[in-house]
Formats: sequence, structure tokens, C-alpha cells
Amino acid sequence: MTIDPQPDELVSSWLHRLAIANGIAPRPFAGVLGLGGGMWSPRLDLQLPRDVAVLLGGQTGVPHEAISAMTMTGWALTPLLLPLRENARRNRSTWMQFCSLCLADEAPHFHRQWRLASRISCFVHGCGLRDRCPACHAGIAAPDQADLIPQHFCVRCGFDLRRAPKVSVKTAARRLERSIHDICRIEAAKGSLTIGTVVSRVLRAPVVAGVTSATSLTTLSTPARIRCFEQLAERSDDWLAPGGGNAVAQRRRLVLAAGGHDRLIACLANFMDKRQGSPRPAL
Ligand SMILES: [Zn+2]
Ligand SMILES: [Zn+2]
Repeated sequence: MTIDPQPDELVSSWLHRLAIANGIAPRPFAGVLGLGGGMWSPRLDLQLPRDVAVLLGGQTGVPHEAISAMTMTGWALTPLLLPLRENARRNRSTWMQFCSLCLADEAPHFHRQWRLASRISCFVHGCGLRDRCPACHAGIAAPDQADLIPQHFCVRCGFDLRRAPKVSVKTAARRLERSIHDICRIEAAKGSLTIGTVVSRVLRAPVVAGVTSATSLTTLSTPARIRCFEQLAERSDDWLAPGGGNAVAQRRRLVLAAGGHDRLIACLANFMDKRQGSPRPAL
């Protein structure tokens, strides 16, 4: 039985759904693919061996390009990925985040964007992300699921993650997150060499915010990163767009000031409309 990949779905998430649809739990499915246990599927997100990709393409009919698009191979934002670890202390990052409202989708799946330490909220639902089950505080352990239970249920306690209470994040922090996302997206799309400087500045966010002793954003739990962004949102934008009049720094400052690229475009469009709509000042 074939399962269609969903937009922005991770290959690990697709494999967990594919396994269950075919009557195999994710943990034994690793053996079917000839892989070891533990974090077998999140490792495939990072690098999908060619023989596994060929096997999956052949068995599912999903085009090779669609399968490789679900991985994060060659992604300019790779340094921002949360580290793979099965157990993490309470205040440390887990490997995966989620939005409970997104999981209420008819094909519950995990997104590539949720693996990024620079993401703290859902752009669709406006709520904060979570990195642990609210009932037992375990991280997402979907690769280790030994029963035929979909991945939106906590593997450790069975809690339905779609029922997790909403997390609120201050508007200013969400605007900062959106701006960082857009700056990374634009500079990565242009193949700009400056993407490396943005990524390294974002990674140093906890140092700039002074909220914890952590030196990298990727080590922090989602609640700690939300606090970090809320602190940073109250400061000037200079930490991300340092002084200097070059075009890249200026664009970053404009996106940050507007709270995202779409808002910046909307402001510009509004400005142009006003100018065209009122050719001469009213008397
Ligand atoms: Zn959502
Ligand atoms: Zn749980």
C-alpha cells in the first residue's frame, strides 16, 4: 500500500506512516529496510542511502525526486537542525518539535521545519511548538514504536499529541522568528555565501539574549528557545544585521523591521498605492 508524501513532510514521518499502512510497526520496519534500531529513521532524514532510496521508490512508486525532497541532504540550514538524541534532560533540546493543531490534519505527519532550532511556533496556527509529550514529558520516539499506533500518539505513554494544550508565544517573538526564517530562505535561495553568517548568528542567539549559559541555540529545549526569542525581540536588530551599508545587511534590517518578508512587501505595496492614489497632497 502506498502513502503519498505530504507537503514539507520528513522522510522519517512518511516511513512511519508507510509502515503502519502496511501492517508493520515502525521499529520492526527498520529491520525490513535492513537498518539498525534506535534513531534509524531520523538518520535517514539526514542522509538517505542510495540503495534504500531505490528500494522505497520501487516499492511505493513515489518518484525519486519526491523522496529525496523529504530529506535534508545539502540543506544550507543543516547547522540549525536539532541534534539527534533519544533521551534529553528536561531543559535540553529533543530532536523533534510539533504543533498539536497541525497533527490534527487528516494525514498526521511531522514537518521538516520542525527539526530547526530557529523554529519556535507554527506559522499556520500561530501557537508555540512543543518538543515533549505534555503528559509524560518524553520526547518524540516514533522510530521506536513497536505497536501499530500512528505517530501522533506518544510512544511512551500513549497520550494523543493532538490534544496537547496550546502554547502561547508573544507576537514580537513570532515576528522575529518569521523574519529569521525569511532572511534564511531568501539568502539560501540566492545561493548567497552570506547564509553561513546568518546561520552562525542565529546559533549564537542564547549568548546574545543572555538567557542561559548555553552557547548554541540547538542545545536548548523549545520552551527555552521561546524565552530566548522573546528576550531578543525586545532588543535592537543589530545582532542579526550588523552595521555596514551593504545591500545584504540593509535587506536583513528591512525584513526584521517589518516582521517578515511578506509584511515588508505589503508595506511597500501599501506605500506605492498611497503615492499613486494621491498624486498631489490634499489642500
Ligand atoms: Zn500548526
Ligand atoms: Zn507521553
